[in-house]
Amino acid sequence: MKTFNGILYGGDYNPNQWPREIWDEDMRMFRDARINSATINVFSWAKIQPAEDQYNFSELDDMVDMLSRENYEIVLATSTGALPAWMAAKYPEVERTDYEGRHHKFGHRHNACPNSPVFQKYSAALAGKLAERYGSNPHVKCWHISNEYGGECYCENCARAFRVWLQKKYGTIEELNKAWNMEFWGHTIYDWDEIVLPNALGEGIGTEKTAFAGISIDYRRFNSDSMLANFVAERDAIRVYDKETPITTNLMGTYKGLDYFKWAREMDIVSWDNYPRYDTPWSHTAMCHDLMRGLKDAPFMLMEQTPSQQNWQPYNSLKRPGQMRAQSYQTLAHGADTIQFFQLRRSVGACEKFHGAVIEHVGTENTRVFREVKQLGEELEKLGGILPGSVNQAQVGVIFDWDNYWALEYTSGPSVDLTYVPHIHEYYRYFYDRNIAVNMIPVDADFSKYKLIVAPVLYMVKDGMAQALEAFVEKGGTLVLTYMSGIVGQSDNVHLGGYPGPLRRLAGVWVEEIDALAPEQFNQVVMDSGESCKCGLVCELMHLEGAESLGTYGDDFYKGMPAVTRNSFGKGHVYYVGTHMEEAGLDRILDKAAAEAEVESVVSGGEGLEIVCRKTKEGKKLYFVMNFGEQERTLPACLAGRKDLLTGEKAADTLKKYEVCIIEAEES
Ligand SMILES: [Zn+2]
Repeated sequence: MKTFNGILYGGDYNPNQWPREIWDEDMRMFRDARINSATINVFSWAKIQPAEDQYNFSELDDMVDMLSRENYEIVLATSTGALPAWMAAKYPEVERTDYEGRHHKFGHRHNACPNSPVFQKYSAALAGKLAERYGSNPHVKCWHISNEYGGECYCENCARAFRVWLQKKYGTIEELNKAWNMEFWGHTIYDWDEIVLPNALGEGIGTEKTAFAGISIDYRRFNSDSMLANFVAERDAIRVYDKETPITTNLMGTYKGLDYFKWAREMDIVSWDNYPRYDTPWSHTAMCHDLMRGLKDAPFMLMEQTPSQQNWQPYNSLKRPGQMRAQSYQTLAHGADTIQFFQLRRSVGACEKFHGAVIEHVGTENTRVFREVKQLGEELEKLGGILPGSVNQAQVGVIFDWDNYWALEYTSGPSVDLTYVPHIHEYYRYFYDRNIAVNMIPVDADFSKYKLIVAPVLYMVKDGMAQALEAFVEKGGTLVLTYMSGIVGQSDNVHLGGYPGPLRRLAGVWVEEIDALAPEQFNQVVMDSGESCKCGLVCELMHLEGAESLGTYGDDFYKGMPAVTRNSFGKGHVYYVGTHMEEAGLDRILDKAAAEAEVESVVSGGEGLEIVCRKTKEGKKLYFVMNFGEQERTLPACLAGRKDLLTGEKAADTLKKYEVCIIEAEES
């Protein structure tokens, strides 16, 4: 398989939107900024297939020729992320039917029905033609299939495909009725053709909830599989002509709609688009990078970020001086081998004209943004021989599971505020603040690689999971479980016999009831030490079944009942956090769990700095030290006075906001 020469530095480039005289000017300016890569042909389907029986690659040939001459590493997209108008006009089935049952007309992007035979035929055909034409070009270093897969379709083609998918999964109608608990409200069905999609016209409640979570979760699995089948069809069409070039598609972090762990198994390399908002915590962005790295437990590509401004968020603030550089190093620190922008030249019209670019509307290099891009380009050129392929290692695994994400957020009760990602982030944040490396892992990961596993809101416990977690703890692992865990199985039916169901033995507690607290309501957790901390959202009323209490509720009729517990199980321990605690209280519990598991920070000291370690193929450790806080911070003693790879000189003793250094140390 082909690999990149150094760190890929570039981004989405659309010379087709510009007259030819601009192309040469682009090349001159990109060279100046040390840009070595361009992602092309992301939205050009209408151009390269102007009619059903016609292909025209002349302009794309010119673009590929120019970039090859200039020795670029080309990321070649397949263009299937937006449909051509002729196809929508001739074959209305290629457009989606939305959640409200409205069949769409031509317009927008990410708009194809994944189960339309016409779309399937022409998207795979186009990918094959591109591979036949460009697959042998040594400058083509990566295939980029479609763009940001997402959304849903509820058309008749999808309904038919859903029935086939269900027959394969359940075999008989009886099994399906049982899985979806269809006796409820007398929804029993007797024929596969009676199954309708769970949209607003069916089982949907509003846009987020459902009367039958079992159907809706299966639909999400099916929809994710349907789009994955589109990806696989294009990938396989490319592989007929090109066996050497890695194939990816750009993912979107914690995007809800697609089971990215399943997708990653079909991708050669993971890539993703990072668009934090002005108020997104840096810990959240770090978590998304760790999740994207975790999909294949391997380095990934940053396919898109903006050099400065976005256009599609409510408030599109500029990146402050140094912010883009610091954000880029955070990305590399957490496992990226590329830094790519959307986009290289800012478009003149349509909805992304206010989306930032390396070359702004003024058209010259005399901009703050360009200068910052150039500075970063010069630095990355120097790191190119050291960084790519180096790995991140962690003693802590945080479980992330799309089935659980869907199931938890479909539940009707106990609280509308119980969403998935914020709770994962609260637990991740504890480790981030202490520079303890984390791997984001799937539910079927090899747990034995970790000292500490954290499984926040593990509402859905599928077959075999409890046994795998028990085996991990039995051998000496430490496990942290929380409220709303172990409640349902894979079809969202409750594990009977008391919460947390199959985790009850492991946790050594029985949760009898779950109270929901409104945003203005709070309880207290009174710790063993006598200190107390606020808690809310949900309060589980627990009985000890072998576990010890670490803190009890301070108020209400369940005052004195355990709120947080610790259980010994085999050689290991299980912490069960039965309520949503304020940060200081949660930190106290996680301090105990981390100490018990003997997990260590990447380095000692360095308070207020983000420090991440990547280990090179030669066994050297690269410490990325970044300051995202307001205060100037001091480098930890073990890194102070050593050479900063970015400057080649001794690292400064302190870092101000957005300052970064990278320090290399031999394997200790
Ligand atoms: Zn459809």
